[in-house]
Amino acid sequence: MISQIKGLHHVTSMADDARTNNRFFTDLLGLRRVKKTVNFDAPDVYHLYYGDETGMPGTVMTYFPFPKMARGRPGTGEVGTTVFSVPKGSLGFWSDRLSKQGVDGLKQDERFGQKRLDFAGPDGDGFALVEVENDQRAPWTQGGIDVDHAIRGFHSVDMRLRDEGATVELLKYMGYEVAEDRDGVKRMIMPGGNGADFIDVEPMPNISRALPGAGSVHHVAFAVENREKQLEVRKALMETGYQVTPVIDRDYFWAIYFRTPGGVLFEVATNEPGFDRDEDTAHLGEALMLPKQHQHLRPLLEQHLEPLEG
Ligand code: ZN
Repeated sequence: MISQIKGLHHVTSMADDARTNNRFFTDLLGLRRVKKTVNFDAPDVYHLYYGDETGMPGTVMTYFPFPKMARGRPGTGEVGTTVFSVPKGSLGFWSDRLSKQGVDGLKQDERFGQKRLDFAGPDGDGFALVEVENDQRAPWTQGGIDVDHAIRGFHSVDMRLRDEGATVELLKYMGYEVAEDRDGVKRMIMPGGNGADFIDVEPMPNISRALPGAGSVHHVAFAVENREKQLEVRKALMETGYQVTPVIDRDYFWAIYFRTPGGVLFEVATNEPGFDRDEDTAHLGEALMLPKQHQHLRPLLEQHLEPLEG
């Protein structure tokens, strides 16, 4: 078992329209856009990051909005629901707010003894808010949502798998423990994590594989403190038989990727250097930041990319 992983780092999904995506996460959910950049491999597509004030690991939802992308088809082998932590007693506020804005899929429920509100993102993305007592993470409150209601960061992701056995073993190897098992759903916890400490593993043996598209999660990233710890994780995973990519510089963190037995793409990302490496904290996410290899495309991209509010 390894001990370097400290919970979730970010979740990356695909979307259709960048402006709709931007409004949903900033205006409606009240997150801060902490970076406006482009996809390293397709620089004509935005890469948008939403999180707390500084984009702390465990708070950051990121998107690739591909204009006119068809919706994905939910299924197995993917993250089905991304869950955010909100204060106790705040779900009534959220239910009113989301229903007034015509958000789809609203459903109040309880899971593992916690009150939860499921809802859909603009492309049918699976989201939920769950009430958590004493989440110590400081929320971003300048997005129009006060401290009694604002999102604290991720609570968990819910992975839907045809056969969960090997993935549960992998998560245990990564440092997770089974906290609870109810009706076949396993809630795994990362002891001593960064706050985004849970993963629900949901077996769905009779459901076919998801077809990725707009509204689908592309990958889920786990946090390690620094590059040294990341190399230790990479070595351990490779010795266990996983094929892991070399370390890739993503400007705001370093990343390694590997495909899990259940089909979900995992990343292990460093907490360093963070989103303030090229912008003042006061102005994070306002200007279009480009990776250095795409700097020469700036005039073209500024014309091509849809302008975003905020
Ligand atoms: Zn990533």
